[in-house]
Amino acid sequence: MLNWNVSLVVPSFLVLLIIMGYYFALPRLPVRLNKTYLAILINEGVVMLFDIISSWADNMHDILPVWLLVILNSVYFFSLALRIFLFFELTTIVLRVNIWKNKVAAILLCIPYVAEQIIIITGMFTGNIFYINENGYNRGPLHFTIYVCLYFYLFTSFFMIYKFRMRIRRKHERVSILCFNTIILIGSIFRITLPTLLLYDTFCLMALIIIYLSFGNPEFYLERRNMAFNSKALRSYIEENEEHGKYKILAFVIRDYHDVREIYGTTQMDQGIALISAYLRVNYPDCLDFYNQGGRFILLGGVNMDWEEIHEELRHRFMLPWTSDDAELYLEAGFALIDCTEGYFSADEVLNMISIMLEKADVLGSDFNILADENVLSEFQDRIEVKRCMENAIDRKAVEVFFQPLVSAKTRKLVGAEALARIRDNDGHIIPPAAFIPLAEKNGRINQLGEQVFEKVCQFISENDANIMGLTFINVNLSPIQFMRSDLGKGFLSTLNMYGITPDRIHLEITEESMTDEQQMEKQIRLMQNYGFKFVLDDYGKGYSNLTRLKKSPFVNVKLDMEIVWDYCNAPDEILPMMVEAFKKMNFEVTAEGIETEEMAWKMTELGCDYLQGMLFSAPIPAEDFAQKYAKG
Ligand code: C2E
Ligand code: MG
Ligand code: MG
Repeated sequence: MLNWNVSLVVPSFLVLLIIMGYYFALPRLPVRLNKTYLAILINEGVVMLFDIISSWADNMHDILPVWLLVILNSVYFFSLALRIFLFFELTTIVLRVNIWKNKVAAILLCIPYVAEQIIIITGMFTGNIFYINENGYNRGPLHFTIYVCLYFYLFTSFFMIYKFRMRIRRKHERVSILCFNTIILIGSIFRITLPTLLLYDTFCLMALIIIYLSFGNPEFYLERRNMAFNSKALRSYIEENEEHGKYKILAFVIRDYHDVREIYGTTQMDQGIALISAYLRVNYPDCLDFYNQGGRFILLGGVNMDWEEIHEELRHRFMLPWTSDDAELYLEAGFALIDCTEGYFSADEVLNMISIMLEKADVLGSDFNILADENVLSEFQDRIEVKRCMENAIDRKAVEVFFQPLVSAKTRKLVGAEALARIRDNDGHIIPPAAFIPLAEKNGRINQLGEQVFEKVCQFISENDANIMGLTFINVNLSPIQFMRSDLGKGFLSTLNMYGITPDRIHLEITEESMTDEQQMEKQIRLMQNYGFKFVLDDYGKGYSNLTRLKKSPFVNVKLDMEIVWDYCNAPDEILPMMVEAFKKMNFEVTAEGIETEEMAWKMTELGCDYLQGMLFSAPIPAEDFAQKYAKG
């Protein structure tokens, strides 16, 4: 007769209860990994509990009825067989192998488990796994099948880990999956060699903790500030449901999120986000709510829900403020409805669609309920294509520079030029900067692109006689990202030296976007001025313009954005003349952009502008054409 020692299982069981407490306290994403982990947790509780009770009962066999011992031990064995099967399934999920996809493989993989359970259930009557006699608990003739089943799944797990290890990108996850299976293996050896200590349970608890720390912790899928599921959760859910596509998504974005965040401050804004998520959870309990960075909310639910109605409700809710004890926020939202039921959408496509749609919604606002369709996808494909062309052009040093003349308003003679970047698609057609500059800014290639433009401008100056052309300066555009670089001046200087040019030939154009951090801006401009560079303020009047701020700024020239030039030419008012006068008082020269007609040119000259730029004089043209056109002055 065996005398069971429960002194290790009881504390293990208590530790398990703590893990369960943490696990159940947080919302869990309904994906296979989490469902299986939940099953493991519950089953582990059953295994340990029945291991304790049945061991106690076996020790007391002389006073307890046989049927009770049989039932207690059978439940234990049933959950014991289930345990290894669940650990095996979790291993396959982490390895991104869907064992249920292929019917034959699924049946073959289930046979040992099902056979084992049949032996265990029938064993209640046949005594094949265990039997109870006057000495108490005894192993039956088929008890060894428990180990056959266990090692079948363990070694299949090891085989799969080896075969599919590359599907797990993170090294620590690869180590974890190997680790928890090894720990189960060690535990099983203890079960064979020291059966009465019931050590196997403790080892399985260790495996369970490793899984919790590496894959199972619900916090991995949560956005802390509002307890909504995060973008990792969204990807996991969509990837898992890629082939079913039986859901719809209502996504919305807080418009001008970054500006609004600056106005309300981080703490208030985070409270607002938490309030919105709480509202979604309470009002749409059948939906999953996700939060992506940048004020983007995603509500995902069944196809039969009335999404138009939900959109209406939310639109109305956003007309009211979001209020808590210490926050009251008035927010605007832009909405997009994404229907994933028609046609096949891969996870990447759905996620891209969400991000494009929300970008649009941010601009369009709450009245627009945009439906995702093929256009959105093709727009995304175009963007990828532009990005590829841009990267290609940068790598091959094939970014082209076009020049557009700046003429003196009084003499109409060439005085300067603006260098404008161009790249080409595979068919040789020009892609405009509006399509590729924002992409280059996003993926960090803008610095290289800017350096290339700068170098090509230097090359142009060194190869052509600017004096004959009458060209006193060439304007080069700087993205705010480039402008913030502390080594910008040094880099430009060394390029200038390479071509033997002085920095005063080049004027650097920046926009007001670069002026958000005034101190930083002043420091940078001062530093660059010491090197000899001059600065021009581009697109004045496009954003929120601040005249007093300009008072301190050492620009040589301010370029009026074409929108305000056009507005003035269409309906003259007092404002633009006053602005130009103010600039003159500050000793800035003024350039009017977007001059398309003689009348516009005349009006801007009358206003006091020094330089004119626009289609009336010339569109931006390739460097060689420009050189040829103005070669004779
Ligand atoms: P920007 O610096 O304000 O450049 C002026 C834009 O107005 C150019 O557009 C030019 O082609 C266009 N334009 C000039 N005259 C007229 C006109 O009479 N009518 C109309 N409708 N448009 C006119 P482009 O070349 O498409 O460049 C757009 C923007 O892309 C530029 O605006 C500038 O912000 C940016 N960009 C261009 N090249 C570079 C570059 O090398 N680096 C950086 N960071 N940005 C660049
Ligand atoms: Mg410009
Ligand atoms: Mg401009």
